Amino acid sequence: PLSLLKDPSLLKTDALINGQWVTGASRFAVTDPSNGQHLADVANLGAADAEAAIAAANAAWPAWKAKTAKERSIILRKWFDLLMANQEDLARIMTAEQGKPFAEAKGEIAYGASFVEWFAEEAKRVNGETLPQFDNNRRLVVIKQPIGVCAAITPWNFPLAMITRKVAPALAAGCPVIIKPAELTPLTALAAAELAIRAGIPAGVLNMITADSDQSIAVGKVICASDVVRHLSFTGSTEVGRILMAQSAPTVKKLSLELGGNAPFIVFDDADVDSAVEGALASKYRNAGQTCVCANRFYVQAGVYDQFVAKFSAKVKAMKVGNGFEDGVVQGPLIEDAAVEKVKRHVADAVAKGGKVETGGNALQGQFFEPTVVSGATADMLCAREETFGPFAPVFKFQSEQEAIDAANATEFGLASYFYSRDIGRIYRVGEALEYGMVGVNVGILATEHVPFGGVKQSGLGREGSHFGMDDYIEVKYLCLGDI
Ligand code: ADP
Repeated sequence: PLSLLKDPSLLKTDALINGQWVTGASRFAVTDPSNGQHLADVANLGAADAEAAIAAANAAWPAWKAKTAKERSIILRKWFDLLMANQEDLARIMTAEQGKPFAEAKGEIAYGASFVEWFAEEAKRVNGETLPQFDNNRRLVVIKQPIGVCAAITPWNFPLAMITRKVAPALAAGCPVIIKPAELTPLTALAAAELAIRAGIPAGVLNMITADSDQSIAVGKVICASDVVRHLSFTGSTEVGRILMAQSAPTVKKLSLELGGNAPFIVFDDADVDSAVEGALASKYRNAGQTCVCANRFYVQAGVYDQFVAKFSAKVKAMKVGNGFEDGVVQGPLIEDAAVEKVKRHVADAVAKGGKVETGGNALQGQFFEPTVVSGATADMLCAREETFGPFAPVFKFQSEQEAIDAANATEFGLASYFYSRDIGRIYRVGEALEYGMVGVNVGILATEHVPFGGVKQSGLGREGSHFGMDDYIEVKYLCLGDI
């Protein structure tokens, strides 16, 4: 698939430090999850390279923060334009290394690029404040300044968007960045870095350290231990988030963490069931169930339970699974064997505990798994507690509103949640009672660039996107002026 690129020079396999492409002492392989085909060998950098990138970013910081907001905005806008002008090629690279259907990959390029557009605009709106004085000889002023060198460690499920929603606000605020993209999907990230250079982002302001899983750990340690790196943004598992948080304690680093979820999707008796089925499909099976906001547990009230299960299962049964480049495919492969094993384990556990397979249930060849619905799910099942991160929908039956709220909140996670109801009183009650950072009401998809994305409880810290997404990259400074 990569031979079809309109601009083959977007296929970069070296890392980027201080504006130079770096080959690294060794390489690691990137493969296509749909067929195991070898795609490229990418630079495998380590601790010393991370130190070099941090030094380069620190050296580039004064000139970058000295630019006016408008100058930075113009460069970011150019990067946005280039990402969109190369949408097809970037999507092709993404589908090849990540597996999501080509149409979905094109959607992610637009979504990922939208953060660059948004923060190009927000760069010009980092406004300070003046406060009323407590004594007439003084004036009280609040200014906002870039936090300093920032690092971003990102996952494979959104190879572009998880980078841009961290990097764009950092750059907009006047901070240089070091990015450590996921080892499974570095090619999309490197192509985006190449476009950043073409857009005029100066050497050292955007650095990208590619590394395999072992070296990623070493690079992570250097980033966390560095006094120069003032902020770390991470999206990935809660387990790794905890490690990075602990490693960042000695330097009291500011952290933005977007970690695991365990999203409930509740359908009340008064819901529009057809709309709920459409929302459920979109929320569950997008990216083969591999997003942190994918519905993980479906709670359906007794009055519409059978109807929902029947309609939902019929739609799921009709989904076409296959290579993301094939026409009509709506679900690609899972990212790796371990992901397939986890879905198998969750489905087998649900069946062993009395669940009924309504459709799917089986692993297919390679890394593909049938889109699956299991009814009769119960709270003792693994899928009630753990995020499956795959195309498996367990459906639980409930009787009362309070029972649904309690079940939905019975998790240490709190990222996205969804519910369907036409009753305005219930919409407010349940919307307020759900312990989640995001609540979708009568929708299955809720993310976009100008809303605050993030979680509560062990789903993380901070918000990405929207004007709130700028806050973590800015320090507030209070100036108290006397002798006026
Ligand atoms: P996922 O479950 O989405 O694969 P992970 O949390 O394992 O997420 O990985 C997300 C990102 O974190 C990847 O870029 C990976 O290389 C990186 N990573 C994993 N473990 C560590 C670590 N100990 N230190 C630094 N980065 C890590």
